[in-house]
Amino acid sequence: MKIDTGNFVRNAKLEMQNQYARTFLSLLPPYIAARRVKVMGSFPDPAAAQELSRAIRAEAVARMPDLLEEFEKNAIAAGARVLWARNAAEANEMILSIARERNVTMVTKGKSMISEETGLNDALAREGIEPFETDLGEFIAQQLGRPPFHIVGPAINVPVEEVCDLFMKKAGMQEETTDPVELGYAARLFLRDKFRRARLGITGVNMAVADTGAIINVENEGNIRFNKSSPRTQVSVMSPEKVVPTTTDALHLLRVLCRNCTGQSISAYVSIDRGPREPAEIDGPEELFIIIVDNGRSRLYHDPKLREALRCIRCGACLNLCPVYAKIGGYPYGWAYSGPMGQVLNPALLGLEETGDLFKACTLCGTCREVCPAGIDHPAIFLHYRALEVKRKRRSSGRWEAILFGVWGTAAAHSAVWRFLYRLARPVLAVFGKKGKIEAMPGPFAGWFGARDLPVPARRTFRDQWRESLSKQGGAS
Ligand code: SF4
Repeated sequence: MKIDTGNFVRNAKLEMQNQYARTFLSLLPPYIAARRVKVMGSFPDPAAAQELSRAIRAEAVARMPDLLEEFEKNAIAAGARVLWARNAAEANEMILSIARERNVTMVTKGKSMISEETGLNDALAREGIEPFETDLGEFIAQQLGRPPFHIVGPAINVPVEEVCDLFMKKAGMQEETTDPVELGYAARLFLRDKFRRARLGITGVNMAVADTGAIINVENEGNIRFNKSSPRTQVSVMSPEKVVPTTTDALHLLRVLCRNCTGQSISAYVSIDRGPREPAEIDGPEELFIIIVDNGRSRLYHDPKLREALRCIRCGACLNLCPVYAKIGGYPYGWAYSGPMGQVLNPALLGLEETGDLFKACTLCGTCREVCPAGIDHPAIFLHYRALEVKRKRRSSGRWEAILFGVWGTAAAHSAVWRFLYRLARPVLAVFGKKGKIEAMPGPFAGWFGARDLPVPARRTFRDQWRESLSKQGGAS
């Protein structure tokens, strides 16, 4: 997937002119958010359920290295092969060599955010291996060449007319229709044929259970189950933070995940698989590879502040309530992750230089933090990024800014210096004032005034007036 996080502001402005997306954003995310509230109410104590999931995620991240070793041991004992990839290139190369060794020319894929992150589809296509996304939304997004609009509904914003044109061109649909059932049927016919022929299936992982070596996948379409049961070889790709300590923990997270994700008590399909097919079993892969892709997570793990980002379970609840996401949708975030989740993860994984506007596009309202079942304090992380950004810019913008802030700091700490400098600056600032406001300044100060203005300093300060009135009172007495 092409990374376009550097053009956030430009892309956000463009998306805000997309009336169809605006209408859609005003309806669906609030609807899912309302369903979430309703179905969370089915817990005897919703707040306690949320608190428990936060505690489980905090523990899982704190113990991640040990849990991963335990998971690996148990997965190998169940017959899986576990591979460790340091970065996207290594992960893609591992999958390519598995495909090459088996002379595979086409693969089917279940939804996998980590493979969006590694750009797996492009890597496969470059080697002449055709990848087919099999989640309906991912399939539409892939065929349109667009990133996911929403983590739960990757193409949920695409009008049915556009889906119809797409399926006529690329999915062998014979007759035009805008009936969603007919469109779904056309996609099913097309993809069933791929499942029938695929010898390699690739899926993501919702949870990896350390104490059993099992992998859990959650879905509503049955396509992941097809991917895990039909092809001879199956590859599960996961990031390390997907590991959870026990089955009991996983089952609680599962209940919280479904409620936060789509407002369902439980999704239509939950697959819990351990190892490849046993001799007595009738379906499942003959061989199972589990690829654990670090891609920057170890670095995050060692940062006490950013480690919290690893708790995310990709439920999407924070997107549905974010006032910024509600205006611009998923595309401007420019990568696999959007909304507050993307504003936390993208800078952490890609670096601040690439994602400078992302973490600034926030009102700091804190709604994401309130709903997050993983206990992530998004606003605190955004403020941390902003502080790092200021330090980085100060280092790279030469000495003048450091000198300016040094003078400012000294003046603010010494009232005599402050008064003296203020007297010098007041006539200079007054030159730029119009109707009591300064709305523009030249040179290095121009950026500041792009989004704010400043009152013109009063001719006589409060101190001056106070002193005068005191001296008058003294004179009168
Ligand atoms: S940050 Fe929290 S609310 Fe947002 S997707 Fe991740 S777990 Fe869900």
